[in-house]
Amino acid sequence: MLLENGETITALRELTPTQIELGVEKICYSFSCFGLKEEMISLLMGQENIRPMKAIKRLIETRLKIKISNEKMGELSKIYAENLSPNLQLTLEITAKIDWHAGEFSDWNSCYWGSRRMAREILLENGGKAIKIFSQQGNSRCWAYPIGESSWILFNMYSSNHLRLEDVARILTQHYYKKGIRLGYTEVKFSVKNDAENLLHINNNSGILISNDPELLAENEIIIDPTFYCSECGEKIDWSSYGYTQYEVFCEECKESPYYCERCGTRLRETEVHWGNDYPYCEECFDDLFTSCDRCGEVVRRDEATYIEEYDKILCTFCLENYYTWCGKCERYIINNDIIYIDGEGDYICEECYSKYTKDCSKCGARFYEENLDEEGICWYCRKAGKRNG
Ligand SMILES: [Zn+2]
Ligand SMILES: [Zn+2]
Ligand SMILES: [Zn+2]
Ligand SMILES: [Zn+2]
Ligand SMILES: [Zn+2]
Repeated sequence: MLLENGETITALRELTPTQIELGVEKICYSFSCFGLKEEMISLLMGQENIRPMKAIKRLIETRLKIKISNEKMGELSKIYAENLSPNLQLTLEITAKIDWHAGEFSDWNSCYWGSRRMAREILLENGGKAIKIFSQQGNSRCWAYPIGESSWILFNMYSSNHLRLEDVARILTQHYYKKGIRLGYTEVKFSVKNDAENLLHINNNSGILISNDPELLAENEIIIDPTFYCSECGEKIDWSSYGYTQYEVFCEECKESPYYCERCGTRLRETEVHWGNDYPYCEECFDDLFTSCDRCGEVVRRDEATYIEEYDKILCTFCLENYYTWCGKCERYIINNDIIYIDGEGDYICEECYSKYTKDCSKCGARFYEENLDEEGICWYCRKAGKRNG
């Protein structure tokens, strides 16, 4: 009903809010309430043949049913003469999308773009909206936080043209009055329950409440309890105990154990952590970097593991060194069961290579690589010993 998405409101800006007591309802004491201003402007601008101030006087007196002195009339005509410039036109746009860049609405130094970026999410998740204000003199913006059905708190105004939250409240009040919704506005203290760090970063801890509820308007302190969910486990945040980074809020439990992938830096829930060499990794990085040994099951870095095609096995260094042997002849790893000791050489070799490349020394009977035996099949030791003896 109020502040619909995409709603645009045009209004004339009042340079000097005319807080002249006219006996109108206290909260809506602005002179331009109840649509009077537009009528006055048309009177002042349009009809030269009448005396405008006289017509305005009559308008006020009939509409608001009050008597106005000539002195007060003079004051009013001066103020409104100053307010007739067409470049004082404002356009308000209500949106639930924060789709501008830092500074586009005079909000360069708003922490919502930096250290409290996450405040924008908290705001939007709770039905909050932005009010963008366009004018020829520059753009402004403020936030609006819903309090029940027809009540909103405006806060954190950033303006390049000295527009104030009160001006926005006044414009909204006028706008909805024309639609038959009677609202008041008032300044209130505004804060988040138990929020020590002021996560929403409410400037001056105050805002302007606009509401159709007289009881609410009589309050001078509004404490909100926004719903927001833990970035890690999805639990509702209890604002009495939470942790946060500039991008995320965590529940009490999760704030203590934040895991970040050692390689890509992604924040991980406890259940998403894959441990590799005592460091946490995300699934993707873990699969890229690690595998497990097919023999002992240990997690092992891929660049430290050995794949043996013949057995279709990935092996850790320990298992490779302890259960497999390198056959230097055919240059492959052989499972220890299938390896044979060549006593003459003090070396191991696979069965195939054993029968292919080794022979017993015809003298001492020890096993040698054939290439180490001479034409008579005698090993180097026997020959040396023979020479010495003979
Ligand atoms: Zn959590
Ligand atoms: Zn990763
Ligand atoms: Zn192993
Ligand atoms: Zn071999
Ligand atoms: Zn020999």
